[in-house]
Amino acid sequence: MDGKELAARIRADVARQVAAFGRPIGLATVLVGDDPASDVYIRLKHKATLEVGIEARDLRLPATASEQELLALVAELNADDAVDGILVQLPLPDRIDENHVINAIDPLKDVDGIHPVNAGLLVAGTTGHVPGTPLGVLALLDEYDVELPGAHAVVIGRSDIVGKPAALLLLHRHATVTVCHSRTRDLASETSRADVLVAAVGVPGIVQPGMVKEGAAVIDVGITRTDTGLVGDVAPEVAESAGFLTPVPGGVGPMTIAMLLTSTIRAARYREGELAHPSA
Ligand code: NAD
Repeated sequence: MDGKELAARIRADVARQVAAFGRPIGLATVLVGDDPASDVYIRLKHKATLEVGIEARDLRLPATASEQELLALVAELNADDAVDGILVQLPLPDRIDENHVINAIDPLKDVDGIHPVNAGLLVAGTTGHVPGTPLGVLALLDEYDVELPGAHAVVIGRSDIVGKPAALLLLHRHATVTVCHSRTRDLASETSRADVLVAAVGVPGIVQPGMVKEGAAVIDVGITRTDTGLVGDVAPEVAESAGFLTPVPGGVGPMTIAMLLTSTIRAARYREGELAHPSA
């Protein structure tokens, strides 16, 4: 599954929508501190945002910034009419309570889909904003016509930003969903029943060939930096028996960024009243 190619098509479509929107669209990203991985993600997001004609603000606070300073910045962005989307890059430094910050983001501008209102709407199935990575996973499955109703989907990982929302999206598409995590007793017996397997752990090679059903669609969300480059959660040999496998890099990564851009357009449409946010 080629995430790069699909992401490029989605970005081109977003660029057309931005040009036709009638007013500028703005996305503000906020990074606290200088974590090198977060810095790379923010740079990639910033570059892609500018390329589609969205006005990108790359806001940085020092690692020493207080929770109050960050909350003041979020309040400023909530009130700023030129800002349609707000993305606070996680994780935040330990001193800052992530929940306080997430709860402070205007749900209409919450393009990462992490505010409890958006997370709750996803549970209810009347979605508002949804995190970009699981949206990208679903877009890839749809692009390759992977049958979801009735399929057995296994998601490894239960984070709020990837595993849980991916499982809910698959459930809403009528898959039978199993969620595995660090306390799962026999991971291989769960994964080997999967028609669709989503690995979102961050442990290279946690999915080995013997754990995957012949012909399964395997989506590798994991990203681990090693001396030889980025590696996913799925051993490359899985490609020999899987029906589909996403590469790392070039699979889910570019899709995450493309879906952030589509969410930013969605945020602008919510704010203009062209679309109704389900919480309204
Ligand atoms: P996380 O650390 O919040 O969650 C990891 C999950 O894996 C947890 O739910 C945990 O229970 C589970 N887990 C840990 N060890 C396990 C084990 N031995 N067996 C089964 N489950 C186990 O991470 P996250 O934010 O959900 O990200 C997961 C991975 O996806 C990371 O590698 C991250 O870098 C990557 N990621 C990629 C993208 C992308 O765009 N491709 C976006 C977000 C995250």
